[in-house]
Amino acid sequence: MKKLVILGGGTAGTMAANKLRAAVPATHLEITVVDRDDQHHYQPGYLFLPFGTYTVDDIVKSRHSFIHEGINLIISEIAGVDADAKTVELADGRELDYDYLIIATGTHPRPDMVEGLTDHLGKTAHEFYTLEGAKALTEVVKKFKRGRLVIHVSEMPIKCPVAPLEFTFLADDFLRKNGRRKNIEIVYVTPLDGAFTKPVASRELGNALSDRHIALETDFAIEHVEADRIVSFDGREIAFDLLVTVPPNLGADFLATSGLGDDMNYVPCDQQTMESLAYPGTIWVLGDGGTLKTSKAGAVAHFSVEIFIENFVNMLKGQPQHAKFDGHANCFIESGNGKGMLLDFNYDTEPFTGSFPFAKVGPMGLLKETRINHLSKLAFKWVYWNMLLPGRKIPLPAAMSLHGKNVETGVASSADAMPTGAPSSSAPAAANPRPKPVLKTTPIHKSIKLRTPPKATPPRESGEIKPVVPVHTGPATNSTVPADQVLASPIIPKF
Ligand SMILES: Cc1cc2nc3c(=O)[nH]c(=O)nc-3n(C[C@H](O)[C@H](O)[C@H](O)COP(=O)(O)OP(=O)(O)OC[C@H]3O[C@@H](n4cnc5c(N)ncnc54)[C@H](O)[C@@H]3O)c2cc1C
Repeated sequence: MKKLVILGGGTAGTMAANKLRAAVPATHLEITVVDRDDQHHYQPGYLFLPFGTYTVDDIVKSRHSFIHEGINLIISEIAGVDADAKTVELADGRELDYDYLIIATGTHPRPDMVEGLTDHLGKTAHEFYTLEGAKALTEVVKKFKRGRLVIHVSEMPIKCPVAPLEFTFLADDFLRKNGRRKNIEIVYVTPLDGAFTKPVASRELGNALSDRHIALETDFAIEHVEADRIVSFDGREIAFDLLVTVPPNLGADFLATSGLGDDMNYVPCDQQTMESLAYPGTIWVLGDGGTLKTSKAGAVAHFSVEIFIENFVNMLKGQPQHAKFDGHANCFIESGNGKGMLLDFNYDTEPFTGSFPFAKVGPMGLLKETRINHLSKLAFKWVYWNMLLPGRKIPLPAAMSLHGKNVETGVASSADAMPTGAPSSSAPAAANPRPKPVLKTTPIHKSIKLRTPPKATPPRESGEIKPVVPVHTGPATNSTVPADQVLASPIIPKF
C-alpha cells in the first residue's frame, strides 16, 4: 500500500484528503494529514469579526469534524522534510515516511518582516489576517471616533488580495452607519500602482474608493512603521490615528530550511499540475504555499485541487494525466451597505465587468455592486463548511469561462501568458496587441528584510520628523485608466 502524507489540514489539505479518500480505497492508499492544531479557521470570516457580523464560533471549528473516516490526523508542528529520503520530521520527534507528499501549509502574515511593526501591533497598529488580530480589532473599531484610519498593504503577494479593500469598504459603511464617518478620514495605502493589480479591476475598485471619498496612496513600499506613521523607502510618510495593516505573507519556515521553498518560502510548482518542479511525481503543492501565478485564495485551492485529484487518481491507475489548471480564481468583494462585487479570472484573462455565471442574466455581477453578490459571499461560509471541506462536488467548473464577460479590447488573454509556454486554446489573442507596458513592481520581502533603501532615497537622520505628505484627497489615483494604458497581454497576475 502506498503512503500519502498531507502537510497542513487547512482549506486545500482537508479538501484534498477528503476527495482522495472518497476516490481511492484505504486498502490502496494510506492518507495522513498533519497540522499543528485542531482548529480549522474559516479565514474569510476574519474580515467580518471586527464589524460584528460573525462570532468566533462561526468561523472556528475542530479539524477532526472535517477529516473523514479512514484518514489519519496527526496534530504536531512540522519541523522539516527530507525530500530525497521521502521523510517528514515532526517537532515532537516522530518521523513519517511517504511515497507521495502534498504540501498544503499555506501562507501566513509575518509582521516581523517590517521594521517597527511588531512594536506597535495591538497598540496603534492592528491587523485582521489572524484570528487574534481580527478579534482585537473588534474593540478598537467600536471605540474609534475620530482621526485618520489608514488601511495598508505591505507587499504582494498576500492571500485574498481583495480583503484589504473589503475591510476598507466595510469600515466606511460601519462608520457611516454609526454617524462617525464625517470625523474620520480613510486612506488606502498600497504597494501597487492602483487600487488593484489589473487595469479593469483597478479602475472599477479605484472608482469605488473614490465614490466613498476614500483617499488612495499608491506605490508605497513600506520602509518602517512608527507609533503614528508609516514611512516608505522613497521618504513618504503617512500619519495615522489607527493603522490596519496587512503584513507580508510568507510560506512556512520549514520549507525554507528543508530546501523546498523560494525566497518567500513558496514551493516552486508547475502552473498546470501543481507538481513540485524539484520533485515531480512525488511532491505536489496545493493552496497558497506554491508559486501559482494567480490569486492566493480558497477558490483557487478549490479549483486546483479538483485538477490535482483527477490527475493523481489517474496516476495511481497508471493512466495518462490530462487535467490542466488554468489559474481560475473567483472572489467576492464585500463593498458595504449590503452589497458586494465579484471577480472571475485566470492566468490568461484578467477580471472584467459583466455577469456571472451566465451572460446577461447573471445572476451575479462582475465588478458590479449587487445585493446578490453580498448574499452569495455570506452563503459561502455555509458552502465552505458543508460542501467544500467535506469534498462534495460543487456545480462550478474548475475552468474559467468567458461567458458573460465584457472583454475589453487590448486586455484579452494571450498564449504567452501560460508560464509553461503552452498555447492557451480557450483564450482569444488580443485584438490589437500593444507594446508591453512597464509594470511597476513592489520590492519583495528581501528588500524589507535587508533594509536597503533605493539610491535615490536620502538617508533618514535620527530624530528627524518629516512633514507628513498629504495623501490624495481628490479622485482616487487610477480611478480611470486611459485606453492607451490598458495592459496588453501577456497578463501575469501579481496577486
Ligand atoms: C482575511 C482573509 C479573507 C479571505 N477571504 C477569502 C475569500 O473571500 N475568498 C477566498 O477564496 N479566499 C479568501 N481568503 C484566503 C483563503 O482563506 C486561503 O487562500 C486558503 O485558506 C488557503 O488554503 P491553504 O490550504 O493553502 O492554507 P490554509 O487554509 O491557511 O492552511 C494551512 C494549514 O497549514 C498549517 N501549518 C502551516 N505551517 C505548519 C507547520 N509548520 N506545522 C504544522 N502545521 C502547519 C496551518 O495550521 C494551516 O491549518 C481569505 C484569507 C484571509 C486571511
